[in-house]
Amino acid sequence: MSEGFLVKLPSYKCSPDNYPKEVRIKPLNIKSIRKISSMNQSNGVQIIEAVLNDLVDTDVKELYQKDIEFLILWLRMNSRFSDTNPNIIPLGYTCPNCSTKDSKNIDLSKIEIKELNGYKEPVVVKLPSGIIVKQRLLKLKDLLDISITKEESTIFELVASTLVSTDKEEFNTFEEKMNFVDNLESVEDFVVLSKFFEEFDYGFPSSLEIECRNCKAKFNVTLPFEDFFRMDATFVSTGKSYRDYIVNK
Ligand SMILES: [Zn+2]
Repeated sequence: MSEGFLVKLPSYKCSPDNYPKEVRIKPLNIKSIRKISSMNQSNGVQIIEAVLNDLVDTDVKELYQKDIEFLILWLRMNSRFSDTNPNIIPLGYTCPNCSTKDSKNIDLSKIEIKELNGYKEPVVVKLPSGIIVKQRLLKLKDLLDISITKEESTIFELVASTLVSTDKEEFNTFEEKMNFVDNLESVEDFVVLSKFFEEFDYGFPSSLEIECRNCKAKFNVTLPFEDFFRMDATFVSTGKSYRDYIVNK
């Protein structure tokens, strides 16, 4: 695939040698829009994989979750299907202070994309109970694994997915990882493992600070990545009517 745009992934500074620093990506086409239109609550991750695999020149299952989110944003901003500005998305919120329900337009092009820094895979940590654990960043394949058993992933599945091995065992399947998490004897061990995500947070922010229009309270609202992907296919106007294209008038 030689066409498309070369984009640098947010993880490029710290990813392992066998991981791509940049990928080639093509904007959404009709086939991708058709696939996205069949997206529902339970097949979101599968559709994302299918669509990105058509448009990106690498096996997207192996890409980090944050790099995938970045590519989704790139598609959103670079696929001009409708006449409306593809960078503007309405972000709905309910104020936790005064319960006002409102929506604010967010300009995606103005949001800072953080590069991954100070990370080397895998990260080795010694948990409070003394167990030594290796952790790595989440990949799209992890989310696919989770989606086989659950519709929505929780922190427990996400933490389990980061596990590579301990000083006593090597993990090969998601079940083995989940089993290790389920059987942790110390809550503190789990807390340390879950801080992995805060420590190596990068790419597009997962939430944005919003100010309530009514009471001016400030709070964070989670960005709905799957909704960015589910863009309305209200196609651009050609400036002419159908009749203008009829040649046998
Ligand atoms: Zn409010």
